[in-house]
Amino acid sequence: MVQKNKTFKASWSYDPAPESTDHIQIKKKYDLYIDGKFVKPENGKYFETINPTNDEVIAEVALAEKEDVDKAVRAARNAFKSWSKIEPKERGKYIYRIARLIQERSREFAVIESLDGGKPIRESRDIDIPLAANHFFYYAGWADKLEYAFPNRNPKPLGVAGQIIPWNFPLLMAAWKLAPALATGNTVVLKPAETTPLTALKLAEIIRDSGLPKGVVNIITGAGKTGAEIVNHPDIDKISFTGSTAVGKYIQKAVAGTHKKITLELGGKSANIIFEDAAIDQAVEGIIDAIFFNQGHVCCAGSRLFIQESVADTVIQKLKDRMATLIVGDPLDKNTDIGAINSKRQLKTIENYIKIGLDEGGEIYQTDCKLPKKGNWCAPTLFLNLSQSHTIVQEEIFGPVLAIQTFRTIQEVIEKANNTPYGLAAGVWTQKGAKLFHLSQKLKAGVIWGNTFNKFDATSPFGGYKESGFGREGGLHGLKPYVKFE
Ligand code: ADP
Repeated sequence: MVQKNKTFKASWSYDPAPESTDHIQIKKKYDLYIDGKFVKPENGKYFETINPTNDEVIAEVALAEKEDVDKAVRAARNAFKSWSKIEPKERGKYIYRIARLIQERSREFAVIESLDGGKPIRESRDIDIPLAANHFFYYAGWADKLEYAFPNRNPKPLGVAGQIIPWNFPLLMAAWKLAPALATGNTVVLKPAETTPLTALKLAEIIRDSGLPKGVVNIITGAGKTGAEIVNHPDIDKISFTGSTAVGKYIQKAVAGTHKKITLELGGKSANIIFEDAAIDQAVEGIIDAIFFNQGHVCCAGSRLFIQESVADTVIQKLKDRMATLIVGDPLDKNTDIGAINSKRQLKTIENYIKIGLDEGGEIYQTDCKLPKKGNWCAPTLFLNLSQSHTIVQEEIFGPVLAIQTFRTIQEVIEKANNTPYGLAAGVWTQKGAKLFHLSQKLKAGVIWGNTFNKFDATSPFGGYKESGFGREGGLHGLKPYVKFE
Protein backbone atom coordinates (compact mmCIF):
# COMPACT_ATOMS: atom_id res chain seq x y z
CA MET A 1 0.00 0.00 0.00
CA VAL A 2 1.12 3.56 -0.57
CA GLN A 3 1.38 5.36 2.75
CA LYS A 4 0.39 8.94 3.27
CA ASN A 5 3.06 11.54 4.15
CA LYS A 6 5.74 9.71 2.24
CA THR A 7 7.63 11.63 -0.37
CA PHE A 8 7.14 9.14 -3.16
CA LYS A 9 3.97 8.10 -4.92
CA ALA A 10 3.91 4.64 -6.46
CA SER A 11 2.93 4.81 -10.09
CA TRP A 12 0.25 2.17 -9.59
CA SER A 13 -1.46 4.00 -6.73
CA TYR A 14 -5.21 4.21 -7.21
CA ASP A 15 -6.43 7.66 -8.03
CA PRO A 16 -10.15 7.54 -8.87
CA ALA A 17 -10.87 9.81 -11.80
CA PRO A 18 -14.24 9.00 -13.35
CA GLU A 19 -14.87 10.47 -16.80
CA SER A 20 -17.48 13.21 -16.52
CA THR A 21 -20.87 12.61 -18.14
CA ASP A 22 -21.50 16.39 -18.44
CA HIS A 23 -22.45 17.46 -21.94
CA ILE A 24 -23.15 13.89 -22.97
CA GLN A 25 -26.52 13.89 -24.62
CA ILE A 26 -28.57 10.85 -23.74
CA LYS A 27 -32.29 11.11 -24.38
CA LYS A 28 -34.90 9.58 -22.10
CA LYS A 29 -36.54 7.84 -25.04
CA TYR A 30 -35.23 6.71 -28.44
CA ASP A 31 -37.28 6.04 -31.56
CA LEU A 32 -36.42 4.03 -34.67
CA TYR A 33 -34.25 5.57 -37.38
CA ILE A 34 -36.06 4.81 -40.62
CA ASP A 35 -35.93 6.65 -43.96
CA GLY A 36 -33.81 9.49 -42.64
CA LYS A 37 -35.89 10.32 -39.55
CA PHE A 38 -36.60 9.09 -36.06
CA VAL A 39 -40.08 7.56 -35.99
CA LYS A 40 -42.19 5.95 -33.28
CA PRO A 41 -42.63 2.18 -33.39
CA GLU A 42 -45.98 1.19 -34.95
CA ASN A 43 -47.17 -0.63 -31.83
CA GLY A 44 -45.84 2.02 -29.44
CA LYS A 45 -43.70 -0.44 -27.46
CA TYR A 46 -40.39 0.45 -25.80
CA PHE A 47 -37.86 -1.47 -23.72
CA GLU A 48 -35.29 -0.32 -21.18
CA THR A 49 -31.55 -0.21 -21.54
CA ILE A 50 -29.85 -0.70 -18.19
CA ASN A 51 -26.58 0.56 -16.73
CA PRO A 52 -24.77 -2.69 -15.82
CA THR A 53 -22.88 -1.03 -12.95
CA ASN A 54 -25.95 -0.10 -10.89
CA ASP A 55 -29.04 -1.67 -12.54
CA GLU A 56 -30.49 1.78 -13.25
CA VAL A 57 -32.45 2.53 -16.39
CA ILE A 58 -30.47 4.75 -18.78
CA ALA A 59 -33.15 5.21 -21.44
CA GLU A 60 -36.17 3.65 -23.11
CA VAL A 61 -35.65 2.35 -26.60
CA ALA A 62 -38.23 1.55 -29.29
CA LEU A 63 -39.12 -2.09 -29.82
CA ALA A 64 -39.33 -2.74 -33.57
CA GLU A 65 -41.84 -5.37 -34.62
CA LYS A 66 -42.79 -6.87 -37.98
CA GLU A 67 -44.45 -3.67 -39.31
CA ASP A 68 -41.42 -1.55 -38.40
CA VAL A 69 -38.96 -4.00 -39.95
CA ASP A 70 -41.10 -3.96 -43.07
CA LYS A 71 -41.05 -0.15 -43.14
CA ALA A 72 -37.26 -0.10 -42.73
CA VAL A 73 -36.75 -2.65 -45.50
CA ARG A 74 -39.05 -0.68 -47.84
CA ALA A 75 -37.06 2.51 -47.14
CA ALA A 76 -33.79 0.67 -47.84
CA ARG A 77 -35.18 -0.86 -51.05
CA ASN A 78 -36.32 2.55 -52.29
CA ALA A 79 -33.00 4.17 -51.46
CA PHE A 80 -31.09 1.38 -53.20
CA LYS A 81 -32.31 2.56 -56.63
CA SER A 82 -30.31 5.78 -56.47
CA TRP A 83 -27.57 4.89 -53.93
CA SER A 84 -26.38 1.99 -56.09
CA LYS A 85 -26.11 4.31 -59.08
CA ILE A 86 -24.50 7.47 -57.72
CA GLU A 87 -20.89 8.14 -58.62
CA PRO A 88 -18.77 5.83 -56.45
CA LYS A 89 -16.59 8.81 -55.60
CA GLU A 90 -19.66 10.53 -54.10
CA ARG A 91 -20.48 7.44 -52.05
CA GLY A 92 -16.94 7.62 -50.67
CA LYS A 93 -17.42 11.26 -49.64
CA TYR A 94 -20.46 10.41 -47.53
CA ILE A 95 -18.55 7.60 -45.82
CA TYR A 96 -15.60 9.91 -45.09
CA ARG A 97 -18.03 12.39 -43.59
CA ILE A 98 -19.41 9.74 -41.22
CA ALA A 99 -15.83 8.84 -40.21
CA ARG A 100 -15.00 12.47 -39.46
CA LEU A 101 -18.19 12.99 -37.45
CA ILE A 102 -17.37 9.92 -35.33
CA GLN A 103 -13.93 11.42 -34.64
CA GLU A 104 -15.44 14.78 -33.74
CA ARG A 105 -17.88 13.18 -31.31
CA SER A 106 -15.50 10.49 -30.07
CA ARG A 107 -15.63 11.47 -26.40
CA GLU A 108 -19.41 11.30 -26.42
CA PHE A 109 -19.36 7.91 -28.13
CA ALA A 110 -16.78 6.56 -25.68
CA VAL A 111 -18.71 7.64 -22.58
CA ILE A 112 -22.02 6.28 -23.89
CA GLU A 113 -20.39 2.98 -24.90
CA SER A 114 -18.96 2.51 -21.42
CA LEU A 115 -22.19 3.57 -19.66
CA ASP A 116 -24.44 1.31 -21.69
CA GLY A 117 -22.15 -1.72 -22.02
CA GLY A 118 -19.87 -1.64 -18.95
CA LYS A 119 -16.49 -1.66 -20.70
CA PRO A 120 -13.61 0.44 -19.30
CA ILE A 121 -13.50 3.95 -20.73
CA ARG A 122 -9.82 3.44 -21.57
CA GLU A 123 -10.86 0.72 -24.00
CA SER A 124 -13.81 2.52 -25.57
CA ARG A 125 -11.83 5.79 -25.82
CA ASP A 126 -8.54 4.37 -27.12
CA ILE A 127 -9.63 1.28 -29.02
CA ASP A 128 -13.31 0.91 -29.96
CA ILE A 129 -14.16 4.42 -31.12
CA PRO A 130 -10.90 5.18 -33.04
CA LEU A 131 -11.13 1.77 -34.73
CA ALA A 132 -14.75 2.44 -35.70
CA ALA A 133 -13.77 5.76 -37.32
CA ASN A 134 -10.82 4.05 -39.05
CA HIS A 135 -13.12 1.45 -40.51
CA PHE A 136 -15.23 4.13 -42.20
CA PHE A 137 -12.09 5.95 -43.41
CA TYR A 138 -10.66 2.75 -44.82
CA TYR A 139 -13.77 1.66 -46.74
CA ALA A 140 -14.46 5.21 -47.95
CA GLY A 141 -11.21 4.81 -49.86
CA TRP A 142 -12.42 1.65 -51.58
CA ALA A 143 -15.74 3.11 -52.79
CA ASP A 144 -14.35 4.34 -56.14
CA LYS A 145 -11.74 1.60 -56.54
CA LEU A 146 -13.87 -1.50 -56.70
CA GLU A 147 -12.68 -2.37 -60.19
CA TYR A 148 -9.16 -2.60 -58.72
CA ALA A 149 -10.39 -4.76 -55.86
CA PHE A 150 -12.06 -7.13 -58.36
CA PRO A 151 -10.30 -6.66 -61.72
CA ASN A 152 -12.37 -7.60 -64.82
CA ARG A 153 -15.24 -8.89 -62.69
CA ASN A 154 -17.64 -5.91 -62.76
CA PRO A 155 -18.71 -6.00 -59.11
CA LYS A 156 -22.30 -4.95 -58.36
CA PRO A 157 -24.01 -4.38 -54.98
CA LEU A 158 -26.33 -7.07 -53.67
CA GLY A 159 -29.22 -4.79 -52.64
CA VAL A 160 -30.60 -4.49 -49.10
CA ALA A 161 -28.37 -5.87 -46.33
CA GLY A 162 -29.82 -6.90 -42.94
CA GLN A 163 -27.13 -6.54 -40.30
CA ILE A 164 -27.41 -7.87 -36.76
CA ILE A 165 -24.73 -7.05 -34.23
CA PRO A 166 -23.76 -8.12 -30.70
CA TRP A 167 -23.27 -6.23 -27.44
CA ASN A 168 -19.54 -6.60 -26.87
CA PHE A 169 -18.24 -3.96 -29.34
CA PRO A 170 -21.44 -2.11 -30.26
CA LEU A 171 -20.16 0.86 -32.29
CA LEU A 172 -17.19 -1.02 -33.71
CA MET A 173 -19.38 -3.88 -34.96
CA ALA A 174 -21.79 -1.34 -36.51
CA ALA A 175 -18.79 0.16 -38.35
CA TRP A 176 -17.50 -3.27 -39.44
CA LYS A 177 -20.87 -3.96 -41.02
CA LEU A 178 -21.96 -0.57 -42.36
CA ALA A 179 -18.74 0.71 -43.95
CA PRO A 180 -18.13 -2.09 -46.50
CA ALA A 181 -21.86 -2.39 -47.30
CA LEU A 182 -22.08 1.33 -48.11
CA ALA A 183 -18.80 1.46 -50.03
CA THR A 184 -20.06 -1.26 -52.35
CA GLY A 185 -23.41 0.48 -52.96
CA ASN A 186 -25.77 -1.52 -50.75
CA THR A 187 -28.40 -0.09 -48.43
CA VAL A 188 -28.85 -1.33 -44.88
CA VAL A 189 -31.21 -2.22 -42.06
CA LEU A 190 -29.05 -2.59 -38.95
CA LYS A 191 -30.05 -3.84 -35.52
CA PRO A 192 -27.84 -3.37 -32.45
CA ALA A 193 -28.11 -5.75 -29.49
CA GLU A 194 -30.85 -5.08 -26.96
CA THR A 195 -28.47 -4.42 -24.03
CA THR A 196 -26.30 -1.88 -25.91
CA PRO A 197 -28.40 0.11 -28.39
CA LEU A 198 -27.23 3.63 -27.50
CA THR A 199 -24.10 4.16 -29.61
CA ALA A 200 -25.86 2.81 -32.71
CA LEU A 201 -28.63 5.36 -32.07
CA LYS A 202 -26.03 8.10 -31.63
CA LEU A 203 -24.54 6.91 -34.91
CA ALA A 204 -28.01 7.27 -36.47
CA GLU A 205 -27.99 10.92 -35.38
CA ILE A 206 -24.67 11.60 -37.06
CA ILE A 207 -25.68 9.68 -40.17
CA ARG A 208 -28.70 11.97 -40.37
CA ASP A 209 -26.44 15.01 -39.82
CA SER A 210 -24.00 13.77 -42.47
CA GLY A 211 -26.65 14.28 -45.15
CA LEU A 212 -26.49 10.63 -46.28
CA PRO A 213 -29.54 10.17 -48.57
CA LYS A 214 -32.55 8.99 -46.58
CA GLY A 215 -33.20 5.28 -46.39
CA VAL A 216 -29.59 4.26 -47.17
CA VAL A 217 -29.03 3.36 -43.50
CA ASN A 218 -31.92 2.42 -41.23
CA ILE A 219 -31.23 1.57 -37.59
CA ILE A 220 -33.89 -0.29 -35.69
CA THR A 221 -33.84 -1.62 -32.14
CA GLY A 222 -35.23 -4.70 -30.46
CA ALA A 223 -34.22 -8.15 -29.25
CA GLY A 224 -33.99 -11.58 -30.91
CA LYS A 225 -37.53 -11.45 -32.27
CA THR A 226 -36.75 -8.24 -34.16
CA GLY A 227 -33.56 -9.86 -35.44
CA ALA A 228 -35.56 -12.85 -36.66
CA GLU A 229 -37.96 -10.51 -38.51
CA ILE A 230 -34.97 -9.08 -40.38
CA VAL A 231 -33.57 -12.53 -41.14
CA ASN A 232 -36.92 -13.78 -42.47
CA HIS A 233 -37.90 -10.68 -44.44
CA PRO A 234 -38.37 -11.73 -48.08
CA ASP A 235 -37.04 -8.46 -49.55
CA ILE A 236 -33.62 -8.62 -47.92
CA ASP A 237 -30.71 -9.82 -50.09
CA LYS A 238 -27.97 -10.31 -47.55
CA ILE A 239 -27.72 -11.17 -43.87
CA SER A 240 -24.59 -10.32 -41.94
CA PHE A 241 -24.61 -11.55 -38.36
CA THR A 242 -22.15 -11.40 -35.48
CA GLY A 243 -23.17 -13.15 -32.28
CA SER A 244 -23.49 -16.51 -30.62
CA THR A 245 -22.98 -19.78 -32.46
CA ALA A 246 -26.47 -20.94 -31.38
CA VAL A 247 -28.21 -17.97 -33.04
CA GLY A 248 -25.85 -18.20 -36.03
CA LYS A 249 -26.95 -21.80 -36.63
CA TYR A 250 -30.59 -20.76 -36.40
CA ILE A 251 -30.00 -17.97 -38.94
CA GLN A 252 -28.19 -20.28 -41.32
CA LYS A 253 -31.14 -22.65 -41.28
CA ALA A 254 -33.62 -19.79 -41.70
CA VAL A 255 -31.97 -18.50 -44.91
CA ALA A 256 -31.24 -21.94 -46.39
CA GLY A 257 -33.03 -22.30 -49.71
CA THR A 258 -33.63 -18.55 -50.12
CA HIS A 259 -31.81 -16.11 -52.41
CA LYS A 260 -30.14 -14.45 -49.40
CA LYS A 261 -26.39 -14.35 -49.08
CA ILE A 262 -25.02 -14.73 -45.57
CA THR A 263 -21.91 -14.13 -43.49
CA LEU A 264 -21.60 -15.28 -39.90
CA GLU A 265 -19.03 -14.29 -37.27
CA LEU A 266 -19.73 -16.50 -34.28
CA GLY A 267 -18.15 -17.80 -31.10
CA GLY A 268 -14.65 -18.89 -30.27
CA LYS A 269 -12.42 -20.63 -27.76
CA SER A 270 -9.07 -19.34 -28.89
CA ALA A 271 -5.77 -20.91 -27.86
CA ASN A 272 -2.99 -18.71 -26.52
CA ILE A 273 0.26 -20.69 -26.62
CA ILE A 274 3.35 -19.78 -24.56
CA PHE A 275 6.60 -21.53 -25.50
CA GLU A 276 9.56 -21.82 -23.12
CA ASP A 277 11.61 -19.52 -25.35
CA ALA A 278 9.06 -16.69 -25.22
CA ALA A 279 9.78 -13.31 -23.63
CA ILE A 280 7.94 -14.31 -20.48
CA ASP A 281 7.02 -10.89 -19.03
CA GLN A 282 5.73 -9.75 -22.40
CA ALA A 283 3.78 -12.99 -22.74
CA VAL A 284 2.18 -12.50 -19.32
CA GLU A 285 0.95 -9.07 -20.42
CA GLY A 286 -0.35 -10.74 -23.57
CA ILE A 287 -2.22 -13.38 -21.56
CA ILE A 288 -3.84 -10.65 -19.43
CA ASP A 289 -4.91 -8.70 -22.49
CA ALA A 290 -6.09 -11.83 -24.32
CA ILE A 291 -8.56 -12.87 -21.63
CA PHE A 292 -9.42 -9.79 -19.56
CA PHE A 293 -9.81 -7.20 -22.34
CA ASN A 294 -13.48 -6.12 -22.34
CA GLN A 295 -14.22 -8.46 -19.38
CA GLY A 296 -13.55 -11.39 -21.70
CA HIS A 297 -16.62 -10.47 -23.76
CA VAL A 298 -14.58 -11.00 -26.89
CA CYS A 299 -15.32 -13.70 -29.47
CA CYS A 300 -11.60 -14.15 -30.17
CA ALA A 301 -10.54 -13.95 -26.48
CA GLY A 302 -7.52 -16.10 -25.63
CA SER A 303 -9.61 -18.16 -23.23
CA ARG A 304 -7.53 -21.37 -23.46
CA LEU A 305 -3.97 -20.87 -22.29
CA PHE A 306 -1.34 -23.47 -23.13
CA ILE A 307 2.01 -23.09 -21.33
CA GLN A 308 5.07 -25.21 -22.09
CA GLU A 309 5.71 -27.35 -19.01
CA SER A 310 9.25 -26.11 -18.27
CA VAL A 311 8.05 -22.53 -17.73
CA ALA A 312 4.55 -23.25 -16.42
CA ASP A 313 5.24 -22.53 -12.73
CA THR A 314 6.99 -19.25 -13.53
CA VAL A 315 4.28 -18.08 -15.93
CA ILE A 316 1.43 -19.01 -13.58
CA GLN A 317 3.04 -17.23 -10.63
CA LYS A 318 3.70 -14.09 -12.68
CA LEU A 319 0.17 -14.26 -14.04
CA LYS A 320 -1.34 -14.45 -10.55
CA ASP A 321 0.83 -11.54 -9.39
CA ARG A 322 -0.23 -9.46 -12.37
CA MET A 323 -3.90 -10.36 -11.92
CA ALA A 324 -3.74 -9.09 -8.35
CA THR A 325 -2.96 -5.59 -9.67
CA LEU A 326 -6.01 -5.44 -11.97
CA ILE A 327 -8.59 -2.88 -10.91
CA VAL A 328 -12.20 -4.03 -11.26
CA GLY A 329 -14.75 -1.24 -11.03
CA ASP A 330 -16.40 1.83 -12.50
CA PRO A 331 -16.08 1.67 -16.29
CA LEU A 332 -15.95 5.48 -16.42
CA ASP A 333 -12.85 5.56 -14.23
CA LYS A 334 -9.71 5.83 -16.36
CA ASN A 335 -7.83 3.54 -13.94
CA THR A 336 -10.24 0.66 -14.37
CA ASP A 337 -8.91 -2.48 -16.06
CA ILE A 338 -12.03 -4.63 -15.87
CA GLY A 339 -15.49 -3.07 -16.01
CA ALA A 340 -18.97 -4.48 -15.47
CA ILE A 341 -20.34 -7.68 -16.96
CA ASN A 342 -22.71 -6.58 -19.71
CA SER A 343 -25.97 -8.05 -18.37
CA LYS A 344 -27.44 -10.10 -15.52
CA ARG A 345 -28.01 -12.90 -18.01
CA GLN A 346 -24.37 -12.98 -19.04
CA LEU A 347 -23.22 -12.84 -15.42
CA LYS A 348 -25.37 -15.90 -14.69
CA THR A 349 -23.83 -17.73 -17.65
CA ILE A 350 -20.30 -16.94 -16.41
CA GLU A 351 -21.10 -17.90 -12.81
CA ASN A 352 -22.60 -21.15 -14.01
CA TYR A 353 -19.41 -21.99 -15.93
CA ILE A 354 -17.30 -21.21 -12.85
CA LYS A 355 -19.47 -23.64 -10.88
CA ILE A 356 -19.10 -26.30 -13.57
CA GLY A 357 -15.33 -25.77 -13.54
CA LEU A 358 -15.26 -26.40 -9.78
CA ASP A 359 -17.69 -29.33 -9.91
CA GLU A 360 -15.53 -31.01 -12.53
CA GLY A 361 -12.44 -30.71 -10.33
CA GLY A 362 -10.74 -27.58 -11.68
CA GLU A 363 -8.53 -25.58 -9.31
CA ILE A 364 -9.67 -21.98 -9.18
CA TYR A 365 -7.71 -18.80 -8.52
CA GLN A 366 -9.55 -15.50 -8.20
CA THR A 367 -8.10 -12.20 -7.14
CA ASP A 368 -9.18 -10.79 -3.85
CA CYS A 369 -10.73 -7.62 -5.26
CA LYS A 370 -13.72 -5.92 -3.65
CA LEU A 371 -16.66 -6.03 -6.02
CA PRO A 372 -19.32 -3.32 -5.87
CA LYS A 373 -22.61 -4.37 -4.24
CA LYS A 374 -24.91 -3.27 -7.07
CA GLY A 375 -24.55 -4.21 -10.71
CA ASN A 376 -22.90 -7.12 -12.51
CA TRP A 377 -19.30 -7.97 -11.61
CA CYS A 378 -16.94 -10.88 -11.88
CA ALA A 379 -13.43 -11.08 -10.41
CA PRO A 380 -10.67 -12.09 -12.82
CA THR A 381 -10.50 -15.86 -12.65
CA LEU A 382 -8.23 -18.65 -13.77
CA PHE A 383 -8.56 -22.41 -13.61
CA LEU A 384 -5.74 -24.96 -13.33
CA ASN A 385 -5.76 -28.73 -13.23
CA LEU A 386 -7.77 -29.07 -16.44
CA SER A 387 -7.77 -31.50 -19.33
CA GLN A 388 -9.20 -31.31 -22.83
CA SER A 389 -12.49 -32.88 -21.75
CA HIS A 390 -13.41 -30.26 -19.16
CA THR A 391 -16.49 -28.24 -20.09
CA ILE A 392 -14.73 -24.93 -19.42
CA VAL A 393 -11.97 -25.96 -21.84
CA GLN A 394 -14.47 -26.83 -24.56
CA GLU A 395 -17.22 -24.19 -24.30
CA GLU A 396 -17.18 -20.44 -24.79
CA ILE A 397 -17.69 -18.59 -21.48
CA PHE A 398 -17.51 -15.02 -22.79
CA GLY A 399 -16.25 -13.69 -19.47
CA PRO A 400 -13.00 -13.08 -17.52
CA VAL A 401 -12.30 -16.77 -16.96
CA LEU A 402 -9.10 -18.40 -18.21
CA ALA A 403 -8.67 -22.17 -18.64
CA ILE A 404 -5.00 -23.19 -18.31
CA GLN A 405 -3.31 -26.37 -19.55
CA THR A 406 0.33 -27.29 -20.06
CA PHE A 407 2.11 -29.10 -22.91
CA ARG A 408 5.50 -30.63 -23.70
CA THR A 409 5.86 -30.78 -27.49
CA ILE A 410 4.80 -28.67 -30.47
CA GLN A 411 2.82 -31.55 -31.91
CA GLU A 412 0.91 -31.99 -28.65
CA VAL A 413 -0.04 -28.33 -28.41
CA ILE A 414 -1.14 -28.17 -32.06
CA GLU A 415 -3.46 -31.13 -31.48
CA LYS A 416 -4.85 -29.68 -28.28
CA ALA A 417 -5.30 -26.20 -29.73
CA ASN A 418 -7.18 -27.54 -32.75
CA ASN A 419 -9.34 -29.88 -30.70
CA THR A 420 -12.39 -27.59 -30.49
CA PRO A 421 -15.42 -26.98 -32.68
CA TYR A 422 -14.29 -23.34 -33.03
CA GLY A 423 -11.62 -21.75 -35.21
CA LEU A 424 -11.60 -18.00 -34.78
CA ALA A 425 -8.19 -16.95 -33.46
CA ALA A 426 -4.98 -18.06 -31.76
CA GLY A 427 -1.88 -16.50 -30.23
CA VAL A 428 1.67 -17.86 -30.26
CA TRP A 429 4.47 -16.54 -28.03
CA THR A 430 8.02 -17.51 -29.00
CA GLN A 431 11.27 -15.80 -29.95
CA LYS A 432 11.74 -18.26 -32.83
CA GLY A 433 10.34 -17.02 -36.13
CA ALA A 434 10.38 -20.49 -37.69
CA LYS A 435 8.22 -21.89 -34.89
CA LEU A 436 5.79 -19.04 -35.32
CA PHE A 437 5.44 -19.67 -39.05
CA HIS A 438 5.09 -23.41 -38.50
CA LEU A 439 2.23 -22.90 -36.04
CA SER A 440 0.52 -20.35 -38.23
CA GLN A 441 0.31 -23.09 -40.88
CA LYS A 442 -0.93 -25.75 -38.49
CA LEU A 443 -3.42 -23.93 -36.27
CA LYS A 444 -6.95 -23.93 -37.65
CA ALA A 445 -7.97 -20.37 -36.90
CA GLY A 446 -8.93 -17.32 -38.96
CA VAL A 447 -6.49 -14.99 -37.19
CA ILE A 448 -3.16 -15.97 -35.67
CA TRP A 449 -1.29 -13.39 -33.63
CA GLY A 450 2.46 -13.72 -33.08
CA ASN A 451 3.79 -12.29 -29.79
CA THR A 452 0.68 -10.16 -29.41
CA PHE A 453 -3.07 -10.68 -29.04
CA ASN A 454 -6.35 -8.86 -29.74
CA LYS A 455 -4.82 -6.47 -32.26
CA PHE A 456 -7.35 -5.24 -34.81
CA ASP A 457 -6.93 -3.13 -37.89
CA ALA A 458 -9.35 -2.02 -40.60
CA THR A 459 -6.99 -3.27 -43.30
CA SER A 460 -6.79 -6.78 -41.89
CA PRO A 461 -9.45 -9.44 -42.52
CA PHE A 462 -11.12 -11.09 -39.53
CA GLY A 463 -13.33 -14.19 -39.45
CA GLY A 464 -13.49 -17.85 -38.57
CA TYR A 465 -13.45 -21.48 -39.57
CA LYS A 466 -15.66 -24.33 -38.41
CA GLU A 467 -18.32 -23.24 -35.87
CA SER A 468 -16.78 -19.77 -35.63
CA GLY A 469 -18.54 -18.87 -38.87
CA PHE A 470 -17.58 -17.88 -42.40
CA GLY A 471 -16.95 -14.76 -44.45
CA ARG A 472 -14.40 -12.08 -43.62
CA GLU A 473 -14.77 -8.55 -42.26
CA GLY A 474 -12.03 -5.96 -42.72
CA GLY A 475 -9.51 -5.43 -45.49
CA LEU A 476 -10.05 -6.14 -49.14
CA HIS A 477 -11.64 -9.46 -48.16
CA GLY A 478 -14.38 -7.57 -46.34
CA LEU A 479 -15.74 -6.12 -49.60
CA LYS A 480 -16.49 -9.48 -51.19
CA PRO A 481 -19.50 -10.48 -49.05
CA TYR A 482 -21.32 -7.36 -50.31
CA VAL A 483 -20.87 -7.74 -54.07
CA LYS A 484 -21.98 -10.04 -56.85
CA PHE A 485 -20.29 -10.50 -60.21
CA GLU A 486 -21.95 -10.35 -63.59
P1 ADP B 1 -25.81 -13.48 -26.78
O1 ADP B 1 -26.45 -14.83 -26.60
O2 ADP B 1 -24.39 -13.47 -26.43
O3 ADP B 1 -26.61 -12.34 -26.20
P2 ADP B 1 -26.89 -13.38 -29.38
O4 ADP B 1 -26.32 -14.18 -30.48
O5 ADP B 1 -28.17 -13.83 -28.74
O6 ADP B 1 -25.76 -13.21 -28.32
O7 ADP B 1 -27.10 -11.88 -29.83
C1 ADP B 1 -26.45 -11.25 -30.90
C2 ADP B 1 -27.45 -10.46 -31.69
O8 ADP B 1 -28.38 -11.39 -32.28
C3 ADP B 1 -28.30 -9.49 -30.89
O9 ADP B 1 -28.50 -8.32 -31.67
C4 ADP B 1 -29.61 -10.24 -30.71
O10 ADP B 1 -30.72 -9.40 -30.53
C5 ADP B 1 -29.71 -10.98 -32.04
N1 ADP B 1 -30.54 -12.18 -32.03
C6 ADP B 1 -30.83 -13.00 -30.99
N2 ADP B 1 -31.63 -14.01 -31.39
C7 ADP B 1 -31.87 -13.84 -32.71
C8 ADP B 1 -32.62 -14.54 -33.72
N3 ADP B 1 -33.30 -15.64 -33.42
N4 ADP B 1 -32.61 -14.06 -34.98
C9 ADP B 1 -31.90 -12.96 -35.30
N5 ADP B 1 -31.21 -12.25 -34.41
C10 ADP B 1 -31.17 -12.66 -33.13
